[in-house]
Amino acid sequence: MELTTLEAVRALRVDGGRLWQSLMDLARIGATDKGGVCRLALTDLDRQARDRVTAWARELGCSVRVDAIGNIFMRRAGMREDLPPVMTGSHIDTQPTGGKFDGNYGVLAGIEVLRTLCDRGLRTEAPIEVVVWTNEEGSRFVPVMMGSGVHARAFTLEHALAARDRDGVSVAEALRAIGYDGAEPVGGRAAAAYFEAHIEQGPILESEDIVIGAVAGALGQRWYDVVITGQEAHAGPTPMALRRDALLAASDLVRAVNRIAQDHAPHGRGTVGCLDVFPNSRNVIPGRVSLTVDLRAADDATLDGMARALARACGELEQGGAFEVSCKEVVYFAPQPFDAALVQAVRDGAASLGLDSLDIISGAGHDAVYMARVAPTAMIFVPCKDGISHNEIEDARPEHLEAGCNVLLHAMLRCCGRVEAAEEARA
Ligand SMILES: [Zn+2]
Repeated sequence: MELTTLEAVRALRVDGGRLWQSLMDLARIGATDKGGVCRLALTDLDRQARDRVTAWARELGCSVRVDAIGNIFMRRAGMREDLPPVMTGSHIDTQPTGGKFDGNYGVLAGIEVLRTLCDRGLRTEAPIEVVVWTNEEGSRFVPVMMGSGVHARAFTLEHALAARDRDGVSVAEALRAIGYDGAEPVGGRAAAAYFEAHIEQGPILESEDIVIGAVAGALGQRWYDVVITGQEAHAGPTPMALRRDALLAASDLVRAVNRIAQDHAPHGRGTVGCLDVFPNSRNVIPGRVSLTVDLRAADDATLDGMARALARACGELEQGGAFEVSCKEVVYFAPQPFDAALVQAVRDGAASLGLDSLDIISGAGHDAVYMARVAPTAMIFVPCKDGISHNEIEDARPEHLEAGCNVLLHAMLRCCGRVEAAEEARA
């Protein structure tokens, strides 16, 4: 019995084995001994990976365009080319000790969606584009999320092109060297929707035993540089009551930052990641400590409340006059809610496949966070083993990756307008 197109679309599933094989093929480019990947942005390995992915897209009849910051747009034509495309994608650069799935999954899930449509000879009313964003990781060049950041006008193309690595090589030079200094202008292109599939990089889905995370947004961030000044003195002759031990004060602040985050559950996060002790000598009472504070929350009101609590904690350290505390904010990322209709499309896509989904807020930055500034955006998370990422042991289960890719397919199809079988598919 012949299925109608609508039934055929409902029954559509990606080929999980083919997706897995593509992930493993791409992971060979820059493979490390410990099973991870080292493929820094704009290196020759990055070029090889870009060449591989674009070759796969061309095999499907996609056009490939590269913009001036090296972002790659692989486009499958729609029935109506005047409509803005439905987009998906991520990044294929990695950390020096990165894994096989971070970023790569989002790009190859997009390729698998295209392959699935091609297999069945299905055409969509809106075009579909799979994008590879340049330098998401920020390991070789700062700022992070560079390609999507320029695309979303978070910073200028000139600023990004001028960034240099530790050897003094600029982004502009590196792009030219690998042949991905494209002719297309960056940004200014409409998108009907942007979806990004990604491993969670955290432990929540695994611990809840749920396969699909419908990502409702990303945490806002405020970063601080704090300097606590006391007085260095000899560790022997100075009685305890007369000390101005800056490290002791810093330890109070470390605890305060942790408490501030706990007081702003469930999404509050507070971290002191760096500590610099002066003079860092075993028999000298520390006279000065520099430390970093990273505060995160899902909305600005909460983040502002945490910032005020941090200021109070610094003020309390200064009471009594033993310490001077300077606390400077150095980075602010606004909380970024994703598009409610697209988040619902992710939930609906999961439900139509018989999968449970969990609403989740991303604690990490992603290209999608910048894309959300210029297009309706949502993300799909799948679990990764023990929540570990940015590590060579990063791992994910093939069936979870397949499920996430099926959700991506069906969420995207909800945004693509009409879906029709091409003539050859009926033959
Ligand atoms: Zn990533």
